Amino acid sequence: MSTSSSLHELTAAELADLLARKEVSAREALDAVYARVEEVEEDLHSFVLLTRETAERQAAEVDEARAKGEPLPPLAGVPIALKDIYCTKGIPTTCCSRILEGFVPPYDADVIERCRAHRLVFVGKTNMDEFAMGSSTENSAFGPTRNPWDLDRVPGGSSGGSAAAVAASETVLAMGTDTGGSIRQPASLCGVVGLKPTYGRVSRYGVIAYASSLDQVGPITKDVRDCALLLGALAGHDPRDSTSLPDPPPNYTRALTGEIKGLRVGLVKEFMEYQGVGVAPEVAEAVKAAIARFEELGAVCREVSLPHLNYSIPVYYILAPAEASSNLARYDGVQYGYRSADADGIIEMYRNTRNEGFGAEVKRRIMLGTYTLSAGYYDAYYLKAAQVRTLIRRDFDAAFEDCDVLVGPVSPTVAFRLGEKADDPVQMYLSDVCTIPVNLGGLPGMSIPCGFSPDGLPIGLQLVGPPLAEETLLRAAHAFEQSGQFHRRRAVPVRQRKGRRSAVVREG
Ligand code: GLN
Repeated sequence: MSTSSSLHELTAAELADLLARKEVSAREALDAVYARVEEVEEDLHSFVLLTRETAERQAAEVDEARAKGEPLPPLAGVPIALKDIYCTKGIPTTCCSRILEGFVPPYDADVIERCRAHRLVFVGKTNMDEFAMGSSTENSAFGPTRNPWDLDRVPGGSSGGSAAAVAASETVLAMGTDTGGSIRQPASLCGVVGLKPTYGRVSRYGVIAYASSLDQVGPITKDVRDCALLLGALAGHDPRDSTSLPDPPPNYTRALTGEIKGLRVGLVKEFMEYQGVGVAPEVAEAVKAAIARFEELGAVCREVSLPHLNYSIPVYYILAPAEASSNLARYDGVQYGYRSADADGIIEMYRNTRNEGFGAEVKRRIMLGTYTLSAGYYDAYYLKAAQVRTLIRRDFDAAFEDCDVLVGPVSPTVAFRLGEKADDPVQMYLSDVCTIPVNLGGLPGMSIPCGFSPDGLPIGLQLVGPPLAEETLLRAAHAFEQSGQFHRRRAVPVRQRKGRRSAVVREG
Protein backbone atom coordinates (compact mmCIF):
# COMPACT_ATOMS: atom_id res chain seq x y z
CA MET A 1 0.00 0.00 0.00
CA SER A 2 2.86 2.37 0.67
CA THR A 3 4.44 2.10 -2.77
CA SER A 4 4.72 5.61 -4.14
CA SER A 5 2.64 4.70 -7.21
CA SER A 6 -0.50 4.42 -5.07
CA LEU A 7 0.15 7.13 -2.50
CA HIS A 8 -2.21 9.54 -4.26
CA GLU A 9 -5.09 7.14 -3.64
CA LEU A 10 -4.75 7.20 0.13
CA THR A 11 -6.95 9.25 2.41
CA ALA A 12 -5.31 12.08 4.34
CA ALA A 13 -5.56 10.08 7.58
CA GLU A 14 -3.80 7.08 5.98
CA LEU A 15 -1.12 9.22 4.39
CA ALA A 16 -0.56 11.28 7.56
CA ASP A 17 0.01 8.05 9.43
CA LEU A 18 2.67 6.86 6.96
CA LEU A 19 4.31 10.30 7.02
CA ALA A 20 4.41 10.38 10.82
CA ARG A 21 6.00 6.92 10.87
CA LYS A 22 8.54 8.13 8.25
CA GLU A 23 7.53 5.31 5.92
CA VAL A 24 7.06 7.85 3.14
CA SER A 25 8.19 11.44 2.70
CA ALA A 26 6.03 14.44 1.87
CA ARG A 27 8.04 14.69 -1.36
CA GLU A 28 7.13 11.12 -2.37
CA ALA A 29 3.45 11.78 -1.67
CA LEU A 30 3.61 14.96 -3.72
CA ASP A 31 5.35 13.23 -6.62
CA ALA A 32 2.65 10.54 -6.65
CA VAL A 33 -0.06 13.21 -6.78
CA TYR A 34 1.64 15.09 -9.63
CA ALA A 35 2.18 11.83 -11.53
CA ARG A 36 -1.57 11.29 -11.30
CA VAL A 37 -2.19 14.88 -12.44
CA GLU A 38 0.03 14.24 -15.48
CA GLU A 39 -2.00 11.14 -16.25
CA VAL A 40 -5.54 12.54 -16.07
CA GLU A 41 -5.48 16.33 -16.05
CA GLU A 42 -5.60 16.70 -19.82
CA ASP A 43 -8.99 15.00 -19.75
CA LEU A 44 -10.34 16.54 -16.54
CA HIS A 45 -9.06 20.12 -16.31
CA SER A 46 -9.58 20.25 -12.54
CA PHE A 47 -6.82 22.83 -12.09
CA VAL A 48 -6.28 26.30 -13.48
CA LEU A 49 -2.84 26.62 -11.87
CA LEU A 50 -0.38 23.99 -10.63
CA THR A 51 1.79 25.44 -7.87
CA ARG A 52 4.57 22.89 -8.17
CA GLU A 53 7.44 25.11 -7.03
CA THR A 54 5.54 26.18 -3.91
CA ALA A 55 4.49 22.58 -3.23
CA GLU A 56 7.99 21.16 -3.61
CA ARG A 57 9.33 23.78 -1.21
CA GLN A 58 6.55 23.08 1.32
CA ALA A 59 7.10 19.32 1.08
CA ALA A 60 10.87 19.72 1.50
CA GLU A 61 10.33 21.91 4.59
CA VAL A 62 8.07 19.28 6.15
CA ASP A 63 10.55 16.51 5.40
CA GLU A 64 13.43 18.53 6.88
CA ALA A 65 11.45 19.37 10.00
CA ARG A 66 10.52 15.73 10.43
CA ALA A 67 14.11 14.59 9.96
CA LYS A 68 15.16 17.01 12.72
CA GLY A 69 12.48 15.62 15.02
CA GLU A 70 10.53 18.90 15.21
CA PRO A 71 6.91 18.52 16.33
CA LEU A 72 4.53 18.73 13.35
CA PRO A 73 0.75 19.10 13.06
CA PRO A 74 -1.10 15.86 12.18
CA LEU A 75 -1.77 16.77 8.52
CA ALA A 76 1.77 18.03 7.83
CA GLY A 77 2.90 17.08 4.33
CA VAL A 78 -0.54 16.12 3.00
CA PRO A 79 -1.32 17.57 -0.47
CA ILE A 80 -4.32 19.90 -0.77
CA ALA A 81 -5.99 21.56 -3.79
CA LEU A 82 -7.38 25.07 -3.33
CA LYS A 83 -10.35 26.56 -5.14
CA ASP A 84 -9.15 29.61 -7.06
CA ILE A 85 -11.30 31.86 -4.86
CA TYR A 86 -8.89 32.18 -1.90
CA CYS A 87 -6.32 34.94 -1.85
CA THR A 88 -2.93 33.23 -1.85
CA LYS A 89 0.04 35.50 -1.20
CA GLY A 90 2.30 35.66 -4.24
CA ILE A 91 0.21 33.08 -6.15
CA PRO A 92 -2.22 34.29 -8.87
CA THR A 93 -5.91 34.22 -7.89
CA THR A 94 -8.52 34.65 -10.63
CA CYS A 95 -11.88 33.36 -9.35
CA CYS A 96 -11.86 31.95 -12.89
CA SER A 97 -12.77 35.37 -14.22
CA ARG A 98 -11.00 37.31 -16.92
CA ILE A 99 -11.46 40.44 -14.81
CA LEU A 100 -8.90 39.18 -12.26
CA GLU A 101 -6.32 38.37 -14.94
CA GLY A 102 -2.87 39.12 -13.57
CA PHE A 103 -4.04 39.62 -9.96
CA VAL A 104 -1.48 38.35 -7.45
CA PRO A 105 -2.79 38.85 -3.90
CA PRO A 106 -0.41 40.57 -1.47
CA TYR A 107 -1.82 38.53 1.45
CA ASP A 108 -3.25 35.12 2.39
CA ALA A 109 -6.86 34.37 3.23
CA ASP A 110 -7.37 33.20 6.83
CA VAL A 111 -7.97 29.64 5.64
CA ILE A 112 -4.75 29.73 3.61
CA GLU A 113 -2.81 30.91 6.67
CA ARG A 114 -4.34 27.99 8.57
CA CYS A 115 -3.36 25.53 5.80
CA ARG A 116 0.19 26.87 5.94
CA ALA A 117 0.24 26.60 9.75
CA HIS A 118 -0.94 22.98 9.44
CA ARG A 119 1.90 22.44 6.94
CA LEU A 120 -0.37 21.25 4.12
CA VAL A 121 1.20 21.15 0.65
CA PHE A 122 -0.50 23.23 -2.09
CA VAL A 123 -0.98 21.17 -5.27
CA GLY A 124 -2.64 24.02 -7.17
CA LYS A 125 -5.65 26.26 -7.64
CA THR A 126 -8.78 24.51 -8.88
CA ASN A 127 -11.27 25.40 -11.58
CA MET A 128 -14.66 26.88 -10.65
CA ASP A 129 -17.60 28.76 -12.07
CA GLU A 130 -16.66 32.43 -12.46
CA PHE A 131 -17.05 34.14 -9.06
CA ALA A 132 -18.68 30.90 -7.81
CA MET A 133 -21.82 31.56 -9.85
CA GLY A 134 -22.94 28.27 -11.33
CA SER A 135 -23.60 24.59 -10.75
CA SER A 136 -21.48 22.95 -13.45
CA THR A 137 -18.07 24.69 -13.66
CA GLU A 138 -19.03 25.58 -17.24
CA ASN A 139 -19.03 29.28 -16.31
CA SER A 140 -15.25 29.27 -15.79
CA ALA A 141 -13.38 31.72 -18.04
CA PHE A 142 -10.84 28.89 -18.53
CA GLY A 143 -13.27 26.27 -19.86
CA PRO A 144 -15.09 23.50 -17.99
CA THR A 145 -13.89 20.66 -15.78
CA ARG A 146 -15.10 17.15 -16.65
CA ASN A 147 -16.58 14.62 -14.26
CA PRO A 148 -14.07 11.81 -13.57
CA TRP A 149 -16.88 9.22 -13.56
CA ASP A 150 -18.00 10.18 -17.08
CA LEU A 151 -15.99 12.68 -19.08
CA ASP A 152 -19.06 13.83 -21.03
CA ARG A 153 -20.68 15.05 -17.83
CA VAL A 154 -20.20 18.05 -15.55
CA PRO A 155 -18.57 17.70 -12.12
CA GLY A 156 -21.11 20.11 -10.62
CA GLY A 157 -20.18 23.53 -9.38
CA SER A 158 -19.08 25.95 -8.48
CA SER A 159 -16.27 24.01 -6.71
CA GLY A 160 -16.22 21.45 -9.57
CA GLY A 161 -12.44 21.46 -9.97
CA SER A 162 -11.88 20.66 -6.28
CA ALA A 163 -14.45 17.83 -6.28
CA ALA A 164 -13.13 16.32 -9.54
CA ALA A 165 -9.53 16.53 -8.30
CA VAL A 166 -10.40 14.61 -5.10
CA ALA A 167 -12.53 12.05 -6.97
CA ALA A 168 -9.72 11.39 -9.46
CA SER A 169 -7.00 11.31 -6.74
CA GLU A 170 -5.23 14.31 -8.27
CA THR A 171 -4.99 15.53 -4.68
CA VAL A 172 -5.60 14.05 -1.26
CA LEU A 173 -7.62 16.94 0.21
CA ALA A 174 -9.39 19.95 -1.31
CA MET A 175 -11.24 23.05 -0.26
CA GLY A 176 -14.30 24.71 -1.72
CA THR A 177 -16.79 27.43 -0.90
CA ASP A 178 -20.55 27.06 -0.67
CA THR A 179 -23.02 29.93 -1.11
CA GLY A 180 -25.95 27.89 -2.40
CA GLY A 181 -24.53 24.38 -2.73
CA SER A 182 -21.09 24.79 -4.29
CA ILE A 183 -19.36 22.31 -1.97
CA ARG A 184 -22.18 19.78 -1.52
CA GLN A 185 -23.49 19.58 -5.10
CA PRO A 186 -20.11 18.90 -6.80
CA ALA A 187 -19.20 16.50 -3.95
CA SER A 188 -22.44 14.65 -4.66
CA LEU A 189 -21.93 14.58 -8.44
CA CYS A 190 -18.32 13.40 -8.06
CA GLY A 191 -18.93 10.81 -5.32
CA VAL A 192 -16.84 12.46 -2.58
CA VAL A 193 -17.52 14.03 0.82
CA GLY A 194 -18.20 17.77 1.16
CA LEU A 195 -19.19 19.85 4.16
CA LYS A 196 -20.52 23.39 4.34
CA PRO A 197 -20.03 24.51 7.93
CA THR A 198 -22.38 26.71 9.96
CA TYR A 199 -22.31 30.33 8.75
CA GLY A 200 -19.51 31.98 10.74
CA ARG A 201 -17.67 28.74 11.63
CA VAL A 202 -14.85 29.31 9.10
CA SER A 203 -13.45 32.77 8.35
CA ARG A 204 -14.03 34.35 4.93
CA TYR A 205 -11.20 36.87 5.35
CA GLY A 206 -9.40 36.87 2.00
CA VAL A 207 -12.04 34.74 0.27
CA ILE A 208 -13.32 36.57 -2.81
CA ALA A 209 -16.89 37.52 -1.91
CA TYR A 210 -19.95 36.43 -3.89
CA ALA A 211 -22.97 36.76 -1.53
CA SER A 212 -21.63 37.65 1.89
CA SER A 213 -24.67 36.65 3.96
CA LEU A 214 -24.36 33.09 2.58
CA ASP A 215 -20.71 32.33 1.66
CA GLN A 216 -18.86 29.65 3.68
CA VAL A 217 -15.58 27.75 3.19
CA GLY A 218 -15.37 24.00 3.75
CA PRO A 219 -13.61 20.69 3.04
CA ILE A 220 -13.98 18.33 0.07
CA THR A 221 -12.44 14.95 0.88
CA LYS A 222 -12.39 11.22 0.13
CA ASP A 223 -14.08 10.19 3.36
CA VAL A 224 -15.70 11.49 6.53
CA ARG A 225 -12.62 11.18 8.76
CA ASP A 226 -10.63 13.39 6.39
CA CYS A 227 -13.52 15.85 6.39
CA ALA A 228 -13.43 16.04 10.20
CA LEU A 229 -9.64 16.47 10.17
CA LEU A 230 -9.67 19.26 7.60
CA LEU A 231 -12.63 21.06 9.18
CA GLY A 232 -10.70 21.06 12.45
CA ALA A 233 -7.77 22.71 10.68
CA LEU A 234 -9.93 25.40 9.04
CA ALA A 235 -12.43 26.33 11.75
CA GLY A 236 -11.89 28.92 14.44
CA HIS A 237 -12.42 32.52 15.37
CA ASP A 238 -10.97 35.27 13.20
CA PRO A 239 -11.43 38.90 14.26
CA ARG A 240 -10.89 39.96 10.62
CA ASP A 241 -14.27 38.47 9.60
CA SER A 242 -17.05 40.23 11.53
CA THR A 243 -19.34 37.20 11.12
CA SER A 244 -16.76 34.78 12.56
CA LEU A 245 -18.14 32.91 15.59
CA PRO A 246 -16.21 33.11 18.87
CA ASP A 247 -16.91 29.48 19.93
CA PRO A 248 -13.70 27.43 19.87
CA PRO A 249 -14.05 24.47 17.48
CA PRO A 250 -14.22 21.01 19.08
CA ASN A 251 -11.99 18.09 18.12
CA TYR A 252 -14.21 16.88 15.28
CA THR A 253 -12.62 13.44 14.96
CA ARG A 254 -13.81 12.63 18.49
CA ALA A 255 -17.34 12.75 17.13
CA LEU A 256 -16.65 9.71 14.92
CA THR A 257 -17.87 7.16 17.44
CA GLY A 258 -19.90 5.00 15.06
CA GLU A 259 -22.77 5.25 17.51
CA ILE A 260 -26.08 6.71 16.29
CA LYS A 261 -28.64 4.74 18.30
CA GLY A 262 -31.68 6.90 18.97
CA LEU A 263 -30.55 9.66 16.57
CA ARG A 264 -33.70 11.42 15.34
CA VAL A 265 -33.54 11.70 11.56
CA GLY A 266 -36.08 13.67 9.49
CA LEU A 267 -36.48 13.05 5.76
CA VAL A 268 -37.41 16.45 4.31
CA LYS A 269 -40.46 16.12 2.05
CA GLU A 270 -39.60 19.30 0.14
CA PHE A 271 -36.15 17.93 -0.75
CA MET A 272 -37.77 14.97 -2.53
CA GLU A 273 -40.22 16.98 -4.62
CA TYR A 274 -40.35 20.54 -5.98
CA GLN A 275 -43.50 22.02 -7.52
CA GLY A 276 -45.01 18.57 -7.90
CA VAL A 277 -41.96 17.11 -9.65
CA GLY A 278 -40.00 14.45 -7.78
CA VAL A 279 -36.25 13.96 -7.85
CA ALA A 280 -34.88 11.44 -10.38
CA PRO A 281 -36.01 7.86 -9.53
CA GLU A 282 -32.47 6.57 -8.95
CA VAL A 283 -31.83 9.46 -6.54
CA ALA A 284 -35.09 8.84 -4.65
CA GLU A 285 -34.27 5.14 -4.42
CA ALA A 286 -30.74 5.73 -3.08
CA VAL A 287 -32.03 8.21 -0.46
CA LYS A 288 -34.75 5.79 0.67
CA ALA A 289 -32.18 3.00 0.94
CA ALA A 290 -30.03 5.34 3.05
CA ILE A 291 -32.97 5.97 5.39
CA ALA A 292 -33.44 2.21 5.76
CA ARG A 293 -29.73 1.89 6.59
CA PHE A 294 -29.98 4.62 9.23
CA GLU A 295 -32.85 2.68 10.80
CA GLU A 296 -30.78 -0.50 10.83
CA LEU A 297 -28.05 1.47 12.61
CA GLY A 298 -30.52 2.42 15.33
CA ALA A 299 -31.67 5.87 14.18
CA VAL A 300 -35.34 6.83 14.41
CA CYS A 301 -36.49 8.15 11.04
CA ARG A 302 -39.63 9.95 9.92
CA GLU A 303 -40.78 12.36 7.25
CA VAL A 304 -40.96 16.08 8.02
CA SER A 305 -42.36 18.98 6.01
CA LEU A 306 -40.81 22.47 5.85
CA PRO A 307 -43.31 24.24 3.58
CA HIS A 308 -41.42 27.53 3.10
CA LEU A 309 -38.48 25.67 1.53
CA ASN A 310 -40.50 25.84 -1.67
CA TYR A 311 -39.59 29.55 -1.88
CA SER A 312 -35.85 29.01 -1.51
CA ILE A 313 -34.90 29.35 -5.18
CA PRO A 314 -36.70 32.68 -5.77
CA VAL A 315 -35.49 34.03 -2.42
CA TYR A 316 -31.88 33.05 -3.17
CA TYR A 317 -31.99 34.48 -6.70
CA ILE A 318 -33.05 37.83 -5.27
CA LEU A 319 -30.68 37.98 -2.28
CA ALA A 320 -27.54 36.44 -3.81
CA PRO A 321 -27.46 38.62 -6.97
CA ALA A 322 -28.25 41.72 -4.87
CA GLU A 323 -25.23 41.02 -2.67
CA ALA A 324 -23.14 40.07 -5.71
CA SER A 325 -23.97 43.33 -7.49
CA SER A 326 -22.57 45.19 -4.50
CA ASN A 327 -19.53 42.92 -3.96
CA LEU A 328 -18.53 42.97 -7.63
CA ALA A 329 -18.70 46.77 -7.94
CA ARG A 330 -15.01 46.89 -6.93
CA TYR A 331 -13.82 45.36 -10.22
CA ASP A 332 -13.45 48.60 -12.10
CA GLY A 333 -10.16 48.20 -13.94
CA VAL A 334 -8.35 50.40 -11.42
CA GLN A 335 -7.85 48.33 -8.27
CA TYR A 336 -7.44 44.75 -9.51
CA GLY A 337 -6.55 42.65 -12.51
CA TYR A 338 -7.78 43.34 -15.99
CA ARG A 339 -8.19 46.79 -17.55
CA SER A 340 -9.56 47.37 -21.03
CA ALA A 341 -6.90 48.81 -23.29
CA ASP A 342 -9.45 50.34 -25.54
CA ALA A 343 -11.19 53.28 -23.84
CA ASP A 344 -11.53 56.99 -24.21
CA GLY A 345 -11.91 58.44 -20.71
CA ILE A 346 -12.58 56.88 -17.33
CA ILE A 347 -16.31 56.11 -17.71
CA GLU A 348 -15.68 54.25 -20.94
CA MET A 349 -12.74 52.45 -19.28
CA TYR A 350 -15.02 51.24 -16.47
CA ARG A 351 -17.67 50.18 -18.95
CA ASN A 352 -15.33 48.37 -21.33
CA THR A 353 -13.37 46.71 -18.53
CA ARG A 354 -16.51 45.27 -16.97
CA ASN A 355 -18.03 44.37 -20.31
CA GLU A 356 -14.91 42.54 -21.48
CA GLY A 357 -13.89 41.17 -18.07
CA PHE A 358 -17.11 39.53 -16.81
CA GLY A 359 -18.78 36.48 -18.35
CA ALA A 360 -22.48 36.24 -19.25
CA GLU A 361 -23.76 34.65 -16.01
CA VAL A 362 -21.94 37.18 -13.83
CA LYS A 363 -23.39 40.04 -15.89
CA ARG A 364 -26.86 38.53 -15.62
CA ARG A 365 -26.59 38.46 -11.83
CA ILE A 366 -25.16 41.96 -11.53
CA MET A 367 -28.10 43.24 -13.57
CA LEU A 368 -30.64 41.22 -11.56
CA GLY A 369 -29.15 42.43 -8.30
CA THR A 370 -28.94 46.06 -9.35
CA TYR A 371 -32.59 45.90 -10.39
CA THR A 372 -33.91 44.35 -7.18
CA LEU A 373 -31.98 46.86 -5.05
CA SER A 374 -33.10 49.90 -7.03
CA ALA A 375 -35.44 52.53 -5.57
CA GLY A 376 -39.06 51.47 -6.02
CA TYR A 377 -38.27 47.75 -6.30
CA TYR A 378 -36.35 47.21 -3.06
CA ASP A 379 -39.49 46.70 -0.95
CA ALA A 380 -41.16 44.46 -3.50
CA TYR A 381 -38.15 42.19 -4.05
CA TYR A 382 -35.22 42.47 -1.66
CA LEU A 383 -37.19 43.19 1.50
CA LYS A 384 -39.81 40.56 0.68
CA ALA A 385 -37.10 37.96 0.01
CA ALA A 386 -35.39 38.82 3.31
CA GLN A 387 -38.72 38.28 5.10
CA VAL A 388 -39.32 34.91 3.44
CA ARG A 389 -35.77 33.92 4.40
CA THR A 390 -36.83 34.36 8.03
CA LEU A 391 -39.79 32.02 7.45
CA ILE A 392 -37.42 29.41 5.99
CA ARG A 393 -35.18 29.68 9.07
CA ARG A 394 -38.20 29.27 11.33
CA ASP A 395 -39.22 26.10 9.46
CA PHE A 396 -35.76 24.70 10.19
CA ASP A 397 -35.94 25.78 13.86
CA ALA A 398 -39.29 23.99 14.22
CA ALA A 399 -37.99 20.83 12.52
CA PHE A 400 -34.96 20.71 14.81
CA GLU A 401 -37.22 20.64 17.85
CA ASP A 402 -38.00 17.01 16.97
CA CYS A 403 -35.03 16.01 14.79
CA ASP A 404 -31.26 15.92 15.33
CA VAL A 405 -30.48 15.66 11.62
CA LEU A 406 -32.48 16.36 8.48
CA VAL A 407 -31.71 14.33 5.37
CA GLY A 408 -32.56 14.25 1.68
CA PRO A 409 -30.87 14.31 -1.69
CA VAL A 410 -28.13 16.85 -2.45
CA SER A 411 -29.00 17.16 -6.11
CA PRO A 412 -32.27 16.17 -7.80
CA THR A 413 -30.32 14.32 -10.52
CA VAL A 414 -26.97 12.65 -11.06
CA ALA A 415 -24.31 14.57 -13.03
CA PHE A 416 -25.82 16.04 -16.20
CA ARG A 417 -24.14 16.30 -19.59
CA LEU A 418 -21.84 19.17 -20.48
CA GLY A 419 -23.90 21.77 -22.32
CA GLU A 420 -27.22 20.23 -21.26
CA LYS A 421 -28.28 23.17 -19.07
CA ALA A 422 -25.78 25.79 -20.21
CA ASP A 423 -28.36 27.80 -22.17
CA ASP A 424 -31.19 27.46 -19.68
CA PRO A 425 -30.40 29.39 -16.49
CA VAL A 426 -33.61 28.36 -14.72
CA GLN A 427 -32.88 24.64 -15.21
CA MET A 428 -29.34 25.27 -13.97
CA TYR A 429 -30.65 27.14 -10.90
CA LEU A 430 -32.92 24.19 -10.08
CA SER A 431 -29.82 21.99 -9.54
CA ASP A 432 -29.53 23.65 -6.13
CA VAL A 433 -33.11 23.27 -4.96
CA CYS A 434 -32.04 21.00 -2.06
CA THR A 435 -28.87 22.84 -1.07
CA ILE A 436 -29.86 26.54 -1.17
CA PRO A 437 -32.30 26.39 1.79
CA VAL A 438 -29.43 25.28 4.04
CA ASN A 439 -27.40 28.41 3.18
CA LEU A 440 -30.47 30.61 3.71
CA GLY A 441 -30.76 29.06 7.18
CA GLY A 442 -27.03 29.51 7.90
CA LEU A 443 -26.90 25.80 8.84
CA PRO A 444 -24.22 23.13 8.47
CA GLY A 445 -24.83 20.73 5.58
CA MET A 446 -22.94 17.77 4.24
CA SER A 447 -22.88 15.50 1.20
CA ILE A 448 -21.76 11.87 1.46
CA PRO A 449 -21.88 9.15 -1.20
CA CYS A 450 -25.01 6.99 -0.81
CA GLY A 451 -25.22 5.06 -4.05
CA PHE A 452 -24.68 4.87 -7.80
CA SER A 453 -27.08 5.15 -10.71
CA PRO A 454 -27.47 2.23 -13.12
CA ASP A 455 -24.90 4.07 -15.36
CA GLY A 456 -22.38 4.11 -12.52
CA LEU A 457 -22.77 7.79 -11.60
CA PRO A 458 -22.47 8.74 -7.93
CA ILE A 459 -25.42 9.88 -5.80
CA GLY A 460 -25.02 12.00 -2.67
CA LEU A 461 -27.00 12.05 0.55
CA GLN A 462 -27.42 15.40 2.28
CA LEU A 463 -27.30 15.74 6.06
CA VAL A 464 -28.33 19.05 7.64
CA GLY A 465 -28.05 20.05 11.29
CA PRO A 466 -28.89 22.98 13.55
CA PRO A 467 -26.24 25.71 13.97
CA LEU A 468 -22.85 24.34 15.13
CA ALA A 469 -24.01 20.70 14.94
CA GLU A 470 -21.10 19.72 12.67
CA GLU A 471 -20.19 16.98 15.16
CA THR A 472 -23.64 15.40 14.87
CA LEU A 473 -23.42 15.49 11.05
CA LEU A 474 -19.95 13.96 11.06
CA ARG A 475 -20.99 11.26 13.53
CA ALA A 476 -24.06 10.30 11.48
CA ALA A 477 -22.13 10.49 8.19
CA HIS A 478 -19.29 8.37 9.55
CA ALA A 479 -21.61 5.67 10.92
CA PHE A 480 -23.39 5.52 7.56
CA GLU A 481 -20.17 5.49 5.55
CA GLN A 482 -18.53 2.77 7.63
CA SER A 483 -21.59 0.52 7.27
CA GLY A 484 -21.04 0.36 3.49
CA GLN A 485 -18.53 0.51 0.67
CA PHE A 486 -19.50 3.59 -1.36
CA HIS A 487 -16.53 5.64 -0.16
CA ARG A 488 -14.09 3.01 -1.39
CA ARG A 489 -15.02 3.26 -5.06
CA ARG A 490 -12.62 5.43 -7.04
CA ALA A 491 -13.24 7.06 -10.40
CA VAL A 492 -11.12 5.88 -13.35
CA PRO A 493 -11.10 8.88 -15.66
CA VAL A 494 -8.47 7.95 -18.24
CA ARG A 495 -9.64 7.38 -21.79
CA GLN A 496 -8.14 7.41 -25.25
CA ARG A 497 -6.85 10.93 -25.74
CA LYS A 498 -8.69 12.64 -28.55
CA GLY A 499 -6.07 15.30 -29.17
CA ARG A 500 -7.56 17.71 -26.63
CA ARG A 501 -5.02 20.27 -25.56
CA SER A 502 -4.23 20.71 -21.90
CA ALA A 503 -5.37 24.01 -20.47
CA VAL A 504 -3.18 23.70 -17.38
CA VAL A 505 -1.19 26.79 -16.50
CA ARG A 506 2.03 26.19 -14.64
CA GLU A 507 3.52 28.36 -11.94
CA GLY A 508 6.55 30.49 -12.77
N1 GLN B 1 -25.20 27.13 -7.95
C1 GLN B 1 -25.51 28.22 -7.06
C2 GLN B 1 -25.32 29.54 -7.78
O1 GLN B 1 -25.05 29.53 -8.93
C3 GLN B 1 -24.65 28.15 -5.83
C4 GLN B 1 -23.25 28.58 -6.07
C5 GLN B 1 -22.42 28.60 -4.85
O2 GLN B 1 -22.72 27.95 -3.86
N2 GLN B 1 -21.36 29.38 -4.91
O3 GLN B 1 -25.43 30.59 -7.20
